[in-house]
Amino acid sequence: MSDRSEITDSQRGLGDMDPGEFRDAAHRVADRAADYLARLESYPVLPDVRPGQIHAHIDRRPPAGPEPLEAILEDYARWIEPNVTHWQHPGFMAYFPSVASGPGILGEWLATTLNSNVMFWRNAPASTELEELVVQWLRAMMGLPPALDGMFTDTASVSSLLAIVAARHAVPGLSARERGLAGRPEVGPLRLYLSEEAHSSIEKGAIVAGIGREGVRRIATDPRYRMRPEALADAIAEDRARGYTPCCVVATLGTTSSTAIDPVNRIAEICARERVWLHVDAAYGGVAAIAPEYRPLFAGWERADSIVVNPHKWLFTPFDASLLLFRDRDHMRDAFSLVPEYIRTPDTGEIHNFNEYGIQLGRRFRALKLWMQIRWFGVDGIAGRLRRHCQMAQRLAGWIDADPEWQRLAPTPLATVCARHVPRELREPEAIDVHNERILAEVNRSGEVFLSHTRLGNRYAIRVSIGNPRQTEAHVARCWDLLREAAARTRP
Ligand code: PLP
Repeated sequence: MSDRSEITDSQRGLGDMDPGEFRDAAHRVADRAADYLARLESYPVLPDVRPGQIHAHIDRRPPAGPEPLEAILEDYARWIEPNVTHWQHPGFMAYFPSVASGPGILGEWLATTLNSNVMFWRNAPASTELEELVVQWLRAMMGLPPALDGMFTDTASVSSLLAIVAARHAVPGLSARERGLAGRPEVGPLRLYLSEEAHSSIEKGAIVAGIGREGVRRIATDPRYRMRPEALADAIAEDRARGYTPCCVVATLGTTSSTAIDPVNRIAEICARERVWLHVDAAYGGVAAIAPEYRPLFAGWERADSIVVNPHKWLFTPFDASLLLFRDRDHMRDAFSLVPEYIRTPDTGEIHNFNEYGIQLGRRFRALKLWMQIRWFGVDGIAGRLRRHCQMAQRLAGWIDADPEWQRLAPTPLATVCARHVPRELREPEAIDVHNERILAEVNRSGEVFLSHTRLGNRYAIRVSIGNPRQTEAHVARCWDLLREAAARTRP
């Protein structure tokens, strides 16, 4: 039960927290946050909780009256902090990294304090111009040409959705923005092309954009899980002959399962020839281009009509931040702009009213955290960290390759390794899958690391994704030890 004597005057009144009280509380929260980062590794990466357990402990009714901050922070410390999956933990090597750097957290905190809503220049002048600047910085840091303009969205899923709608808007004579798609017998079915390995968010974009799942055509991949450009060209030709309208091709640079990199240069040639919009999903992989030696992997992506890169994946940026770049700013505005009277402003000139390039009116001030963290790390510092992650992944790949009972299931172009254990005595594919599922469960039970899985060529693969600036070689070596120990323990 809360002690009512700790309720403050500002809580008893009808205004907000008093600034002095906020200062004291903020210092305590800052201490709490710093302590969390300092003792991250004392937590198991995956908390030992069962569904519903948190509900059972935190009060499910909203309190009618105010509660002391002390009590709220105590409950946070007791029930929330220990019971999240610790994405910040250096042992978190599942999925893709999504890590919040110290300067990024501070930037997020200040952005929240300003609560600047980046709808249009007039109601967010500095935030709008900082967004323009940081977009230019990131584009230049990745070696992309100034012809690509852009903005931030919340996620790659939304960035890709906007790109798909823009692609649809580029289909001659379709005019879906004004006329919609339903009830128009003259409109043939649209097609969107992506590889068998491309992310589900693209297909969701096709659902929302009215292309529909039946309009999505998955293109076969080569043994390295990259889209086959000749299969794409054949598919487009076949579809045209059958009355489909090719609308958009999505090349993935860093697929979700194995980080395969589609041959974007050849895909760009096909798109240019066929006059089809090319969207590049580099949500995970794109930031690697900040280290110049990785740019050749992506040669040709600068020809895309739109590109998505997620700073909230492998650029240590607190969730959320997705960068959408597009070649034709006027086209994007034409696809989305709808300005009701109440937000018309007299401001003219080279300003971005960012709400006109997408579906959101209100937008978070995401540029601040990126500006602060790019300045704090420096471009070379960021490149150095990305490079080190790739080197650590190569080291792990080398250990796997040197062990006759382990098998790497895909190339490792970036910082994610896919592998499985194949003990001599196991022959049946299903038995090998089950054995690896057990290894994964065992390793994750350790609390020291958290890994995830995928299927590659219909084989179960354990994935290790490196990308946390707090990770060192010792963490990767420990992960390898845990995998081998688990393999020995679960051996049939
Ligand atoms: N594209 C790729 C290649 C991904 O791997 C992912 C997520 O892992 C996404 C898109 C979706 O990202 P978001 O969660 O930002 O929507």
